[in-house]
Order: sequence, then C-alpha cells, then structure tokens
Amino acid sequence: MSTLQNVDAAPLVDVRGLVKHYAHRTGPLGWLTRRSGKTVKAVNHASFSIARGETLGLIGESGCGKSTLGRAVLRLHEPTAGKVLFDGVDVTSLDAKALKRMRSRMQIVFQDPYSSLNPRRTVEQIVSLPLQLQGGVQAREIRDRVAFMMESVGLKADYLRRYPHQFSGGQRQRIGIARALIANPAFLVCDEPVSALDVSIQAQVIQLLENLKRERGLTYLFISHDIGVIGYVSNRIAVMYLGEIVETGLSQGVLEHPAHPYTQALLSAAPRVDELVERRHRIELHGELPSPLNPPGGCKFHTRCPHAQDICRKEAPATVAVSATHSVACHLYR
Ligand code: SF4
Repeated sequence: MSTLQNVDAAPLVDVRGLVKHYAHRTGPLGWLTRRSGKTVKAVNHASFSIARGETLGLIGESGCGKSTLGRAVLRLHEPTAGKVLFDGVDVTSLDAKALKRMRSRMQIVFQDPYSSLNPRRTVEQIVSLPLQLQGGVQAREIRDRVAFMMESVGLKADYLRRYPHQFSGGQRQRIGIARALIANPAFLVCDEPVSALDVSIQAQVIQLLENLKRERGLTYLFISHDIGVIGYVSNRIAVMYLGEIVETGLSQGVLEHPAHPYTQALLSAAPRVDELVERRHRIELHGELPSPLNPPGGCKFHTRCPHAQDICRKEAPATVAVSATHSVACHLYR
C-alpha cells in the first residue's frame, strides 16, 4: 500500500451525489446509431473525497461505471446531477472559459495508449497540446517544457519528431503521462493506465506514476479492475458496483476487513494482494453484472449476493460507518 505524501486535511477533490445518465443508442456504430428511448444509469449518487497528496483507488468490474465516473469528475462527460468541488471551486458550475483554465489543474491518463494518441501528430504536438489549449506560453518555452517532460517520463527528448506508431505500448503510455503532466496539474485521473499493457511493462508504468506523484505532490483518482494494482497504489479504496459506491475506507482496512459482500468476493478471487491480506475462502459470484439500462431495485447487488434477504430486494441500503475511516452500503450493517 502506498504511503501518504503531503496529505492535507482539506480535500482537494470533493464529489457529492454525482449522477451520470445518458440516452442509450442502438444500431450500427458511428452516426448511424439512433436513440432507443432507454436510459443508461451509469453513475448514481456517487460521493467521495480525495485529500491532497492522496491516491484514492476506485475498483469494480468492467462496465460498472468507473471510467464514466472519472470522466464526469473532470467534466469530460457532463454530469446529470451532483457537484464536484475542486480546491473549493464547484467545477460543475464553471462556464466554458473557466473550465478550460481549470483543466490545466485536472488531467487524465487514458486506458488505451494505442487509441488515445492521434496517429497523425508528432510526439511534440501531442505532449504540448494542453499548453497550446491553455494559451499564453511562448513557443520556445513550450519546446523546453516538452523536452523536460519527456525526460521526466523516461523518454529521450530527441524522440519529439516521431509519430505514435514508432513506439511500444509502454512508451506510448509514457507519452500519455507526459501530455497529462505538461501543464503542471495538481490532480490526475488515472483510468486503467496499465490494463492495456504487457504484464512485464505494467510495474514500470505504475512505478513511474508513483515517482511522479511523490516528486510533484500529485493527487490521484486511480481506476482499475485489478485489486492487486489498487492495493499497491492506493491510500484509500472506493468499491463500485453498478454505478454506486458500496464501500470506502483506508486501503488496509478494506483489504484486511472487507465489509461489503461484493468486496469480499472480489478479494477472495484475487491472488494475495500483499503480506497483510490472508488468502480467503473463495466466494463465487454467480451471474453477470446486471445491465445499467435496467438495474435491479433495492440493493443492486441482491441478484448475486450470497447474503441477500427480503429487505435487500425492496430497499436500497443506506451508507453506514463501520469504523471512523470505513463505510459500507449494506443492510447487514443496519
Ligand atoms: Fe447483500 Fe443485502 Fe448487503 Fe446488498 S444489502 S450486499 S444484497 S446483504
């Protein structure tokens, strides 16, 4: 588990009741799609905060809404409801000009280093883009900062005239990290930053993100479906199931004493996270993650939960504290 650096009591990021619903589209890909009349309930009333210098790990199965939540926090997807306070400023109420200024302080590293870099642009053009959008930076300073940033992520400055296809997956992700950091942000959403990479490269990129966090005093929302990765990088962990945060707590507390049956199942299926975590009796999860187009009522996990009771099918559980630093949404803790 990562150690805390420069943690301040006031949260840098405070997410309150964030909702993201969008119109479901059907048909072939591209402009031929049309609205089906249904609504995808991707994120439902998610609330959490992230202290300065902290890494909050967001874990959940593919399709549970993690990436949508990460993008809604940055307003890359417009939230349907709720607030995001960044350093005390309500990001959800900013106009386009103010949001553009704020973007230099909040950035994202995307999952796929193959599709997230424009193949027709040189590395210099790609990495410098946030500075170009920000405006007011001289061309010479841009070149110097791009060269410095390239070296900071372990790439040679003389690669600047090359194109993305001339790099390996790990090198491309380093270019994506350089682009995210060039404007000196305080906060980074790392959206599955290693899941598209070879296992042999994953540890190098994670270590690079850890080093950059320490050197630059960064704050991370680190999204992954891999509990091993989340356990390694996170100070605190939030567990997401079908658009809802079902458990949050300090990493050690969640990993050693998972409270929610879903977290218990995730951990029981994972290899040992580290020396602190005992191998648990394996809990099989039956059935698929339900569709966010038609989520079950009551507790959304009741269709797969080995402890489901009648009340679970009828009432959504409130979030309750199981300790001063650990909370869970489950009727077992009423
Ligand atoms: Fe399981 Fe009920 Fe708890 Fe949901 S509320 S996780 S169904 S026990």
